[in-house]
Amino acid sequence: MAAPEFLVLADDSALDFMNTVALVDDGLYDFLGTDEDVVAWLKTIGFLGEHEKPSFKHGALVKAAHALRDVIRKLVFQKKQGKRVDVALLNAFLSHSRYSVRLVREATGELQVVHDYEKSTPEQLLTEVAEAAAELLATGDFDLVRKCEAEDCVLWFYDRTKAHRRRWCSMAMCGNRHKVANFRARQKHASQSK
Ligand SMILES: [Zn+2]
Repeated sequence: MAAPEFLVLADDSALDFMNTVALVDDGLYDFLGTDEDVVAWLKTIGFLGEHEKPSFKHGALVKAAHALRDVIRKLVFQKKQGKRVDVALLNAFLSHSRYSVRLVREATGELQVVHDYEKSTPEQLLTEVAEAAAELLATGDFDLVRKCEAEDCVLWFYDRTKAHRRRWCSMAMCGNRHKVANFRARQKHASQSK
């Protein structure tokens, strides 16, 4: 079976990273099973250039990614529950980060500030994920950081809709399922009351 495509639906890259464990075909599936998966995910999100080929000791990147994901999940839960956020856990990752800053003139003549991240260790390759998590925890509105309402769904999102009424990870995966379940329940109810 081909690996399912990454789910990019959270409207926040730290939450998308958390969502790399998801319910697929009635079982939890880890989208980050190998080093290559992690590289592919970073490219999908745009944290790694299409042609970059990082190479570390076999298994080191996926191990670091799982550790970071556990930390992000723990801290997001803590923040969501109004508990004290264990910042030291995330700082253990952030302390690896090194970057330099340049002012770049684009071909169009526009100027851009570019951060060049050092990527010589697995932790450094994950710096932007850890940074996104730090930003989310520091500046995110956690009333809008929510888990999908489907009970068996483990996906999280940042509700950036105007009305702030987002309920599902995606309409296709859980929203419609809910509608169908409601419809069936109503039909059952209707046939029982006949
Ligand atoms: Zn869902």
